[in-house]
Amino acid sequence: ASALSLRGVQHTFAANHVVKGIDLDIAQGEVVCLLGPSGCGKTTLLRIAAGLEVVQEGTVSLEGQAIAAPGRRHVPPEKRNVGLAFQDSALFPHLSVLENVTFGLKHLPSGQRRARALELLAQLGMADYAETYPHMLSGGQQQRVALARALAPTPKLMLLDEPFSSLDARLRDRIRDDTLHVLKKLGSATLLVTHDPEEAMFMADRIALMRDGRIVQTGTPRELYCAPVDPFVVTFFGEVNELEGVVKGGVVQTPVGPVDASWLPEGSAAQVMIRPEALRIKERDLPADAHSHSHVVMAKLLGRTSLIHLCAHGAKGQEAHLHARVPGVFLPQEGQPIDIDLDHSQVFIFP
Ligand code: ADP
Ligand code: MG
Repeated sequence: ASALSLRGVQHTFAANHVVKGIDLDIAQGEVVCLLGPSGCGKTTLLRIAAGLEVVQEGTVSLEGQAIAAPGRRHVPPEKRNVGLAFQDSALFPHLSVLENVTFGLKHLPSGQRRARALELLAQLGMADYAETYPHMLSGGQQQRVALARALAPTPKLMLLDEPFSSLDARLRDRIRDDTLHVLKKLGSATLLVTHDPEEAMFMADRIALMRDGRIVQTGTPRELYCAPVDPFVVTFFGEVNELEGVVKGGVVQTPVGPVDASWLPEGSAAQVMIRPEALRIKERDLPADAHSHSHVVMAKLLGRTSLIHLCAHGAKGQEAHLHARVPGVFLPQEGQPIDIDLDHSQVFIFP
């Protein structure tokens, strides 16, 4: 049975319908990221799974056992064998770091508690702080202790809400990596909430992308990135060039060439979305008056990639300003004539 199964879950605060019918399954050992913009209902859904909110509509099952449904006995969070770490997880201020982590280990023989807690603290880079008290730690350090405390009892299911949000960018990469290793080693099924698509792609076996109380698409990071079901999914994963056109002869003509639209009705309007990395640029020798040809408007080095603003001229006289992203250092001159090739795997078309 699934480690966690949500069926038809809905939730309303006063007149505010924030969760609008969610079905989601998490397999044993699987890491699922609940991804979506701020306010779309992620935290509410996680709190329902944890038992911190009483279910109004739908069912929550852990390993095939329905533990929460309207009118049914509500199993409290501490009886669910679930590890919780929230954005603002408070540590016990009067207990040391080590005591905070051993707190959830009452089921272990006392001799093993300390060793287990120290192991987790070491995996999250906090072993040196075992005797420290929470008020002496930075926000990021407190977040790591909260993670260690949630992971130490090896729960079957981990529920993590933006657990890396207080960490600065460099530390965050390391702690994400460490946390993923710990989760995979423990084999805990995990539902991790984040608004950061890169974090979701790094952490997740599967992503459930939410918008306005509903799941828009569920799949592997690759499925969401390479086979998005609608424009929202495309734009959520990064900047994209948007063009409009009409389907004619099964294609939409764009300034960078025809795009297959054979699945759309002939004569209908279509939205073409071209990821910046789909535009492949080749410099080209042309005489001085090159501006009737596609050309570079501006080139910027961003570090791992270069961003090229370009003006594309189509065979039929159409023109568009587009952004291209090229790996490494590529800084052609302003006005440089270019040829543009399309990587069609990163071009999407919608009605
Ligand atoms: P997310 O975690 O995706 O940012 P939340 O689940 O926190 O979204 O919030 C979804 C919506 O529900 C928001 O409009 C928020 O204001 C509202 N909300 C959340 N918690 C409560 C609450 N306890 N009482 C009333 N409204 C709430
Ligand atoms: Mg939230």
